[in-house]
Amino acid sequence: MTRQRFDTAKIRGGYNPADHNWAVSVPIYQTTAYELGSVERSDEMFAFNSNDPLYTRLSNPTTDVLEARIVSLHPGATGAIALASGMAAVTYSLLNVTAGSGRILSTARLYGGSVDSFEQLFEEFGVAADLVEDPDDVNSFEKLIRQDTKCIYIESITNPNATVLDIERIAEIAHRHDIPLIVDNTIATPYLINPFEFGADVVVYSATKGLTGHGNVIAGLVVENGKFDWSGGKYPQFTKTPYFLSGLDGSKRNILDIFPDDPFTGRIRAIHVNYLGAALSPFNSYLVLLGVETLSERLDKQLASAKKIIGFLEGRDEVLWVKHPWAKNSPYRELAEKYAPKGAGAVFSFGLKGNDDNRKRFLEATNVFSLQANIGDARSLIINPSRTTHIELKPEYQKAADIQDNTIRLSIGLEDSEDLIEDLEQAFEAAFS
Ligand SMILES: *Cc1c(COP(=O)(O)O)cnc(C)c1O
Repeated sequence: MTRQRFDTAKIRGGYNPADHNWAVSVPIYQTTAYELGSVERSDEMFAFNSNDPLYTRLSNPTTDVLEARIVSLHPGATGAIALASGMAAVTYSLLNVTAGSGRILSTARLYGGSVDSFEQLFEEFGVAADLVEDPDDVNSFEKLIRQDTKCIYIESITNPNATVLDIERIAEIAHRHDIPLIVDNTIATPYLINPFEFGADVVVYSATKGLTGHGNVIAGLVVENGKFDWSGGKYPQFTKTPYFLSGLDGSKRNILDIFPDDPFTGRIRAIHVNYLGAALSPFNSYLVLLGVETLSERLDKQLASAKKIIGFLEGRDEVLWVKHPWAKNSPYRELAEKYAPKGAGAVFSFGLKGNDDNRKRFLEATNVFSLQANIGDARSLIINPSRTTHIELKPEYQKAADIQDNTIRLSIGLEDSEDLIEDLEQAFEAAFS
């Protein structure tokens, strides 16, 4: 069959009703384990020779459909794994590529939890991180690559300021040094950017956000295109032959033998999900599948509203600046047109004039926008990142990520844009009355 276009794949990709009692909606397989049937079949399953479900921590038919659907939404992808949170997707990917030593090359322009994990978690796993000073200067990545750098890790569109990174040129630098590029594509979603098109090797998501889009689930995904060569010597975790991977005849096998098309997510399943355990529940897989069915319709509307709201904010005296590629004089316009021609997402920031008291009154005065630490919800959200979502970042990282005390972040939802604008209008009045 020819590859389905995005809007068809998001409804039908990876699912054949004939394999599921002809159910139209993907069934929720709420079961822990599966009958092994026969000793012979069980032997095959325990030897990684079969993809049949064995135990829901490792795989589940509902989750399998979600993984196949996500692959279908990324032309070029060969495999995916669903996880219990976006943080599991980030940390399992980085643990998988580093495997107990070496360095991660990244930027301060990351989700707060991700930057924070470098010191709070990765140091304990023997892994260090280097953050480039200016991610807009792609050469600054190359300058920090060392002998033991294991990957470059970036976000395609960043939060809260909606900056766009030059994925293609950063991928070229990574590949010139034989290391993979891992991209957190949470804000863009595959509808706005397919990072594989620009050289990414692994893509991670917090599906909690726009991918599911209804603020009702915590979920993560890792996707790969199977292109990176893990056999070069720098990644022995993919080529060693531990006893637990042995074949039924006792033959030695490595991860690349067992998962030739999707070794990265295959290894996350065999190691990280197996031992650290953050499997996604089938019910949450179902909710993500349901959310993905309307991904483009939701983003189209959110982008249209974001455009109007950016225009509105730029006309207000109380606003110092607006940060989004659609804002006047944005330095990211060209990159956004290249990577995200439909729009660089509906999460962006503006600077509110005045002092702490004005900010507090503004945040508390909105009635339609809700004060919450989430993004990508059907509801519009507002927050002050420096005191909430990014508070754990050291002051120098906040500065590097361009998060100021007066930064207000908006995540535009699906309400009527006129109501959203009126809500901001009355909040400005309340904040400065
Ligand atoms: C929210 C978020 C995460 C973490 O995801 P959870 O689902 O909350 O664990 C990671 N990366 C980005 C860009 C995010 O926005």
